[in-house]
Amino acid sequence: MTAQGGSPAFESVVQSGRELLLNGRQSDRRTDVTNIDLRDALVRGRQAVDATNRFWLTVNGQWEEETATARLCEEAAPYLQPITFNRAQEGRLGADWLWWFIDRKRSTSFGMLCQAKNLKRDGSRWRIGFGQANKSGLQMDMFARAASSLEVPAAYILYCGDAEYRNGLPCRTHSSEECAPCARAGVSVLSALGAQYLYRLHAGDANACAMAAFQRSQPLEDLVAPATPDGALWDVNFGECVGSLRRFLGEPQYGAARIAKQLFDQLSALRGVQFSRTPLTFELSTLRESNLVYPTLPVDRGHLPRPYFEEILQGLRNGVPRYILDAEDGRFDRLPAKLTSVVNRIVVTYV
Ligand SMILES: [Zn+2]
Repeated sequence: MTAQGGSPAFESVVQSGRELLLNGRQSDRRTDVTNIDLRDALVRGRQAVDATNRFWLTVNGQWEEETATARLCEEAAPYLQPITFNRAQEGRLGADWLWWFIDRKRSTSFGMLCQAKNLKRDGSRWRIGFGQANKSGLQMDMFARAASSLEVPAAYILYCGDAEYRNGLPCRTHSSEECAPCARAGVSVLSALGAQYLYRLHAGDANACAMAAFQRSQPLEDLVAPATPDGALWDVNFGECVGSLRRFLGEPQYGAARIAKQLFDQLSALRGVQFSRTPLTFELSTLRESNLVYPTLPVDRGHLPRPYFEEILQGLRNGVPRYILDAEDGRFDRLPAKLTSVVNRIVVTYV
């Protein structure tokens, strides 16, 4: 159910949000934040972004990613808590924010480096600015390297306009004119590794790339707080996975692990369609990062630019990275250079 402005549900969310903000991070009330509340907040955020984008499209012929992101954070507050630690610095790599999902119930967290991109329409053709480059190379490759330096996956937050704007561009599971996934897709998420693969697959055809990217993305609200529990995920490397990693794929996941699994599913599906063309690499490797929930992972990648298990699961950690605690407490001078050189903003969400 979507909380509407002015309804009791909406008022109570706003009230609890104010209390959370007033009481600061130390408040135990944040443990009351459930997935349902988070989902409602993200639905409100997406609806606000759709309205803002519609307005600027009418007035200006386009909308800005920055405006859309601001509306999303504002409307979904306090579930998206932006912490800006260096106002002077523009993200040098164009990486917009580092997003950490903190799961206190399970003492885990999941991080991803996010960059906002617009789905642009030109007549009946579509475009997402994946091909932007400067003298250092493709922006999307620099973005992936920045995420890798932070040991988290990279993801694009796609502002796709409302369903009317996307007339002629159906979602991957499109069913009818009143298609529910299409209605939720105004703010969607796509793994950057998937985007890199699609960009190269559709080399020179920006329209085909943009359509595929949209169709392989997921509505943000489904990624972060799905309405239904997930089921078993079939992956071509399932046979290589043992113990807890096999349970991660085969059993429903919640909280931070669920977000990781949703993003992983995008890449697993892309690897699955290459299965007949690319044989598996039967090999496991153990990552060095010490707090990983799943440190030993298949290295297989098919035609994807990097191993996809590692890409996503490097971001799923036991506990919370120290720099998040420092950022939340305003100890910005303690933030590591590898972080401050890439982004000037973290967004924290308690799931
Ligand atoms: Zn649809």
